Amino acid sequence: MTWQYHHGMASVIQSKRDDQQIISFNPATGEEVGRVPQLSAAEVLAAVDRSREAFHKWKTTSFRERRALVMKAREVILTQLDEIAHLISAESGKPFGEAIAMEIAPVLDLMQHFARSAERMLKPRRINIGLYATLGRYSKIVYHPLGVVGIIPAWNYPFSIPLGETAMALMAGNSVVIKPSELTPFVGLQIGEIFERAGAPADLVKVVTGDGRTGAALVDAIPDKIMFTGSVATGKTIASAAAKNLIPVVLELGGKDPMIVFDDANLDLAAGAAVWGAFCNAGQSCSSVERLYIQEGVADKLTKLIVARTRELKQGRGDREDVSIGAMSSERQLRIVEDHVNAFREAGAKIEIGGRVGIADRGVRSADSVRSKSDGAIENEGIHDQLSAISNLFFEPTVISGATNDMRPMQEETFGPTLPIATFKTEEEAIRLANDSEFGLTASVWTRDYAKGRRVAEQIEAGSVCVNEVLYTHGIGQTPWGGFKNSGRGRTHGLEGLMELVQPQHIHVNRVAVLPDAWWMPYSPTAVETFRGFAKYFATGSIRKISLLLPQLSKRIRELLKGG
Ligand code: NAD
Repeated sequence: MTWQYHHGMASVIQSKRDDQQIISFNPATGEEVGRVPQLSAAEVLAAVDRSREAFHKWKTTSFRERRALVMKAREVILTQLDEIAHLISAESGKPFGEAIAMEIAPVLDLMQHFARSAERMLKPRRINIGLYATLGRYSKIVYHPLGVVGIIPAWNYPFSIPLGETAMALMAGNSVVIKPSELTPFVGLQIGEIFERAGAPADLVKVVTGDGRTGAALVDAIPDKIMFTGSVATGKTIASAAAKNLIPVVLELGGKDPMIVFDDANLDLAAGAAVWGAFCNAGQSCSSVERLYIQEGVADKLTKLIVARTRELKQGRGDREDVSIGAMSSERQLRIVEDHVNAFREAGAKIEIGGRVGIADRGVRSADSVRSKSDGAIENEGIHDQLSAISNLFFEPTVISGATNDMRPMQEETFGPTLPIATFKTEEEAIRLANDSEFGLTASVWTRDYAKGRRVAEQIEAGSVCVNEVLYTHGIGQTPWGGFKNSGRGRTHGLEGLMELVQPQHIHVNRVAVLPDAWWMPYSPTAVETFRGFAKYFATGSIRKISLLLPQLSKRIRELLKGG
């Protein structure tokens, strides 16, 4: 059976699954994108076995060959730029232009960077071993690939995250098995096709479709590394399943990212940044602005600027170029947003704009038009009879003032188009409020005083902190990406991310191997006296002090030579 894109109206419930297949839907229209198989554990195991065979050949390739493949894959992407962007938009609901700006362009940059730089970054290097060098030894580090890297991504950046990790893994000499999110399986399959068209050896990049069960089967198939992106709950499940076989895991988890605006900030810029940071990808970015803290004196002014900018935004189908905010990617996510907005209301916060499911009047389609279309489709499509219908998967961009940290949705990840605003008086209070979270992925600080910006940034518990910028640093593949606290473990991107994909090996060489080492057996009173000398003189790292040890050292060596 072939698994192809399929068009036709259906329910707006996305990715209905049964035991054999997953149906992927466009969340903005309810159209079926297509169906993919739900692969069994045995099929996943077979894929990992074939991937391991491919790895044994790929690990012997030169950096030049690896670079050629990754650069060719870039070319393939560029020849299909709009097609890929439309597919990303269709499966996730995000605007087509945003798919180019926030997924395709950054990952192309990441690919060229690692294609060109991985060889230099992974070059064997000498280590300074201090006084051991005076004994005629040297040490170097060489980097080996790990083997099969299993990539289990989320649905919110379904192209750039797994593709970036794939390119890095390949440059390090690994093979890859991707288990895309069940909400975006065709984008995952697209990554496999790109490498196939670029001429990758068979089985080097494999894609196994399915839901969490397929992901669990991938972990149980014992790959050599798991790169996981998703929720904290699934991250914990995967970490514990991986621990059974001691599989190393990188976890890129949730965020509740704060933006702090001091009263000396450029408020126009801060307003634009807050709106983009909170609402791009309909707020479904792990690093989106989830909490805005404004210094009291400018809170009213900045809130008004933000509301005015929000009012201008068009919301609608992602395939329209004038749309800024698309649909939420799933009903589940929409319900979380609805629950959080209701919780804010009940706790006494004020909804300044938005707050409802559907598209506001300023939008390009009315909620009713979406509702009637999808309802009609359900009546016409027998296979979807059992799917429960919802009106649509749009949620208005929502600005909320009067939020405080003790309100539940200021602690839980919302992952939707909401921008709750709280106020603070002092620098210390801003830092305390920002750090009052189980998460620590990113944060941003806005001020014209750069020294203050850097000082505050360094006190925030988050993996990446921007001063006068927001959200986009995942797009800088040269820099490490990862979270503090419950936002994750390990890093992707940057040198630190590349190091997650290799096995460092220490090679230690004694170039003057003519004498025994003073610490060898048999031990004796002379040996013990020498060991005292090691503690007192050698372990100081001082050449002058080690010279005081030389008479005792030569006595000990003579003793060992006589004994030998
Ligand atoms: P999720 O945890 O529900 O699913 C993520 C992936 O794990 C999917 O492919 C899913 O099929 C798979 N999976 C589910 N159960 C599994 C299991 N038992 N074993 C193996 N795989 C399993 O997350 P989601 O809803 O897809 O993504 C949203 C979350 O991702 C948010 O919390 C968001 O903040 C986070 N995220 C983090 C980053 C980051 O870089 N830190 C980036 C993007 C998204």
